[in-house]
Amino acid sequence: MVRVRFAPSPTGPLHIGGVRTALYNYLFARKMGGKMLLRVEDTDQTRYVPGAEDYILEALKWVGIEIDEGQGVGGPHAPYRQSERKPMYRQYAEQLISEGKAYYAFDTAEELDEMRKRLEEAKVDNMSYNAVTRMQMKNSLTLPKEEVEARIANGDAYVIRLKVPLKEEIRFKDIIRDWVVVHSSTIDDKVLLKSDGMPTYHLANIVDDHLMEVTHVIRGEEWLPSAPLHILLYKAFGWKAPEFAHLPLLLKPEGNGKLSKRDGLLGNFPIFPLEWKDPFTEEIARGFKQDGYLPEAVVNFLAFLGWNPGTEQEFFTMDELIDSFSLDKIHKAGARFMIDKAKWFNQHYIKSKSESELAAIIKESKADLSNELAVKLVSLMKDRVTFPQEIITEVPFIFDAPSAYDEEVAKSKWNDDARKAMGVIKEAVAGISDADFTSQNIHDTIFPALEAAGIKAGKVMQAFRLAITGVGKGPDLMLTLEILGKAEVISRIEKAVVALG
Ligand code: GLU
Repeated sequence: MVRVRFAPSPTGPLHIGGVRTALYNYLFARKMGGKMLLRVEDTDQTRYVPGAEDYILEALKWVGIEIDEGQGVGGPHAPYRQSERKPMYRQYAEQLISEGKAYYAFDTAEELDEMRKRLEEAKVDNMSYNAVTRMQMKNSLTLPKEEVEARIANGDAYVIRLKVPLKEEIRFKDIIRDWVVVHSSTIDDKVLLKSDGMPTYHLANIVDDHLMEVTHVIRGEEWLPSAPLHILLYKAFGWKAPEFAHLPLLLKPEGNGKLSKRDGLLGNFPIFPLEWKDPFTEEIARGFKQDGYLPEAVVNFLAFLGWNPGTEQEFFTMDELIDSFSLDKIHKAGARFMIDKAKWFNQHYIKSKSESELAAIIKESKADLSNELAVKLVSLMKDRVTFPQEIITEVPFIFDAPSAYDEEVAKSKWNDDARKAMGVIKEAVAGISDADFTSQNIHDTIFPALEAAGIKAGKVMQAFRLAITGVGKGPDLMLTLEILGKAEVISRIEKAVVALG
């Protein structure tokens, strides 16, 4: 039974890359008929940010990632928040001590500093607490047993460190990166339990993945350097390590380096799924959702940032992704974050939404809009927009008569023919009853009337549009007229004739 987990730390809003990690875990779990867990890794209390956990839950929900077990859902391995599991971890660290695989270290911050200085003077490259230096430090390997016991009984501060072997080749096969081989001499004696009794990320992560029976660890490439240490820990405990799959980095649009917050500011795009207000600075970071991206588009976009089905198909619903997903089609190379692709997906998913669905979306931001008008605006604009809110913002002339007219268009199109046409159109329109004021009827009335008056409709339509909207370009004019209604159309023609002369 496949069991995967998403294990974010609530240190701020979830980055869009984190959403991709969660998505790949979810797709794999569903594809394999397995389970998706959510574990909150909040052992670093100094980096805890209020609201971040709720944000993570909301973001996952918004994109449609369903958690089977874990924080917010419950399950057989509860609690799923590591801070609430605190008492569990110590016994594992102590187990390693009793087996000679870890030790207590009492060194103070000053003593650690001194060690660094000594090593610097001795020109030792690898300045860390490790198999070479540990014997010169204050720990349970160097101090007499009685002193160790006395210090602990006395309440002296200590940490528990892993005794990383001096010479050992650590190898594991990553599903995406293939064999990874690292020498243990490059790893320092990592702290497993901190002086406040909290486990470090490494200890808590391994213990929990083991206890929660995680079979596959799918996470970002930034965790690849920690993986050899994790392999060592599994070995030390005598536990079977899960399979690892380290996902490719998300790169800047230019492809040089990791995608950062700054790139979003420079390129004018969000890098967080939802809007986030920093609880300390009150600064607001924009979100895909609030910018008008549909979750379907975000999912499709993220799925392709590092994965490819190997076919020509580009549009995938969540179910189709689940069907096609496999870890072996994930790329090794970083994926460039091209926001235009996200916009392109958004246009597609807007077009594929029903009018009533889109009407409901635009009404969220403009509650006073009647249902009827919302639906009409949707049919007017649906094929022309990238974001739902543009259905409203792109047509200000629907809500207000133009107060100015595009000068360029007026200069080239407002001529004698146009003036004559306004009279003809006004009269034709006036003859349609309110109930019959539909785009089709308007069209079928205006065009023959112009023809009968000897005016080529094609030559005056832009002037007519100018009179109605104030600009030379826009959505379907006949439908625009229908939405405005007969009285408004007549009033705008009259107003334009006065204003444009
Ligand atoms: N808590 C880590 C994070 O914030 C989890 C890394 C992992 O998946 O092992 O990303």
